[in-house]
Amino acid sequence: MTDLNKLTISGARDGLRKGDFTSVELTEACLTAIGKSGALNAFVHNTPEIAHAQSAAADARIATGDAPDMCGIPLGIKDLFCTKGVPSQAASAILAGFKPEYESTVTQNLWDSGAVMLGKLNMDEFAMGSSNETSVYGDVINPWRREGSAAALTPGGSSGGSASAVSADLCLAATGTDTGGSIRQPAAFTGIVGLKPTYGRVSRWGVVAFASSLDQAGPMTKTVRDAAIMMEAMASHDAKDSTSYDIPVPNFEAALTGDIKGKKIGIPAEYHMDGMPAEIEKLWAEGTEMLKSAGAEIVNISLPHTKYALPAYYVIAPAEASSNLARYDGVRYGHRAKLAAGDGIDDMYEKTRAEGFGSEVQRRVMIGTYVLSAGFYDAYYNRARRVRALIKRDFDDVFAAGVDAILTPATPSAAFGLGEMSDADPVKMYLNDVFTVTVNLAGLPGISVPTGLNSEGLPLGLQLIGRPWEEGDLLNTAYALETAAGFVSKPNNWW
Ligand code: GLN
Repeated sequence: MTDLNKLTISGARDGLRKGDFTSVELTEACLTAIGKSGALNAFVHNTPEIAHAQSAAADARIATGDAPDMCGIPLGIKDLFCTKGVPSQAASAILAGFKPEYESTVTQNLWDSGAVMLGKLNMDEFAMGSSNETSVYGDVINPWRREGSAAALTPGGSSGGSASAVSADLCLAATGTDTGGSIRQPAAFTGIVGLKPTYGRVSRWGVVAFASSLDQAGPMTKTVRDAAIMMEAMASHDAKDSTSYDIPVPNFEAALTGDIKGKKIGIPAEYHMDGMPAEIEKLWAEGTEMLKSAGAEIVNISLPHTKYALPAYYVIAPAEASSNLARYDGVRYGHRAKLAAGDGIDDMYEKTRAEGFGSEVQRRVMIGTYVLSAGFYDAYYNRARRVRALIKRDFDDVFAAGVDAILTPATPSAAFGLGEMSDADPVKMYLNDVFTVTVNLAGLPGISVPTGLNSEGLPLGLQLIGRPWEEGDLLNTAYALETAAGFVSKPNNWW
């Protein structure tokens, strides 16, 4: 059978069980696709030996007739996850040469369920960015292009390698992480599904930390059903992460009935932003109609503190990052600068960090240390934390009033050209996260669903935001939207 790499997780699961093909064959098809995908720069470390061993083991397990759904499914892993013995650099020069002695809980859960690792995926350095242009490995290219144009577009960020790889069928699915939108925005830019679960649903152990109170890992997949299957395998309570929550992990796929009759879907007034492109407004209105036709009740809601979310995020995330990144000092991990005669320990720290961190990471560390410094702490950091509590209360109020899910655009535009925003004021880039950061600040689950194409043939996504811990219900609403939208387009294979 050809083109096995184009399968979904659910399609491959069923085919593997019927004996239509083996995991070894499926894995080989992905490795071949990866071999031809250099132009996308999505995979940055390939692990064919691991893939061969894991796929052979998966076939043996499937033959016993008792294998989990993810058994034999080839995946790409974002470089932010520590994978034992395999380079795990968070796309930063400062972690050059770092091969962890341990495996992150999320990836371990996936391997325990029989999934297969193809390699590590490119990303923005330390997951800071919205365009995958801050990576030490270079830019990732979006497999999608504007109609009639060969201009290279961003796949979004920070999980840009994951998004490109899934969209281009280099793997069946990939892991991503989302601190302010890094799963949902790249998913929207590449026509795939991205789920950020409730804060605490998955363990952060072994995932290189950016902003610990916001970071969550989640699946990036070709369909909502695949997101449900992979989410179940990734989630667990973990004693090694004190913020992972001790709550049963349901069978999320079983929640996909497609029946959303009587569900209340909120449309927040504050997400109608000034200057939002007409095509995004149109998509949002169409998505609202789709849910209504599927039997949902549409209600207009207000989330009054939305306009403070981006400023609060860009205080809290850099504050936590400056603290988390203090450990990269040239002593314990990765890169250490060459020192001159007479240099002391401060010189070693300064030179190592100046050489090892890219400019966006340095900017965040500077902002973070500033907002945490004596004299400014109350004015910035504490105020941002108070704003965060108000943003969360906005959502609590809406859910208490009976709203089941909230529908918004996922991004304020379609994928933009490489270089188009990176040379501009960094704030312009930060505006990409306007619809997604609120969800991280409130700790809620959010999913991006491909819903249409813009006038230039580029994918656009809508975001659904759910109640905490109710990913199953959220996935079911997303499934209804996906079914109604019937998005089947794929990028044409130019690479
Ligand atoms: N783009 C946002 C940032 O740069 C979000 C990143 C993320 O979710 N990791 O901080």
